[in-house]
Amino acid sequence: MLITIAIIIDLLIILFSLKYAWWYPKANMKKTRIMMYHMISDQLTKGKKSGLRVSPEMFEKQLKYFKENGWKFIKMSELKNHENENKVVAITFDDGYLDNYSQALPLLKKYGACATLYLVIDRHQNDWSVKKNPKHNTGVLADEEKLSDNHIKEMLDSGIFELGGHTITHPYLPNTSIEDKKYEMIECKNILETTFNTKVSSFAYPFGIYNAEDVEIIETSNYESAVTTDEGVANTNTPYELKRIKASGKDNFFAFKLRVQKGFRGFI
Ligand SMILES: [Zn+2]
Repeated sequence: MLITIAIIIDLLIILFSLKYAWWYPKANMKKTRIMMYHMISDQLTKGKKSGLRVSPEMFEKQLKYFKENGWKFIKMSELKNHENENKVVAITFDDGYLDNYSQALPLLKKYGACATLYLVIDRHQNDWSVKKNPKHNTGVLADEEKLSDNHIKEMLDSGIFELGGHTITHPYLPNTSIEDKKYEMIECKNILETTFNTKVSSFAYPFGIYNAEDVEIIETSNYESAVTTDEGVANTNTPYELKRIKASGKDNFFAFKLRVQKGFRGFI
């Protein structure tokens, strides 16, 4: 009986260690933490828990943590100016959900923070997740309310947000011709700059999927940086393949802190 309990406890410790990798060393504190968010929203009452939805309470707790622990908030266009500085964090949002205006903006303001929004141009009623996986056809993404151009203007005028490119239609790049890729990646920058009278210098690969050809298109199109969904701290020596730290709606606060320190959460 006692042996069984001891084995169970050991297994739980191993599981906990693999899940959180608490013993793994901290990443260099002089490497910028580029945080990746999508929605600041409570979980839906139906269906599985989504990593894309970080609750407003958790988001506030995270901003408070950065502020109280001496982290400096920057926008992606400022990345180069803060290379090799201690405790620098860039908050990023992908796609353009309405809650980035209704929930995130007031909280960012409250904590003196700023953020970069990688905005999809054709975002309304666009269920891009089916392009990657036809089974993702629940309609939840299409129905999720997106930002209007007026919301975005207000977010930019506040000085808290800047825009980054995230293509026109959020294509699945492996299925996209080189001509269409170029159009999606280059023209989205032109459209954002013209529509919002602003400068766009950073890009996020849709679904975080990219290859050498995609990197070359971005590198030769007047972008200064590009972010992926690969997990880790930012290495500015490869500015067109920057890793990000996933802010997941499935994480507790302990997991969030581990991600910030190490660049990732654990091995399972
Ligand atoms: Zn996206």
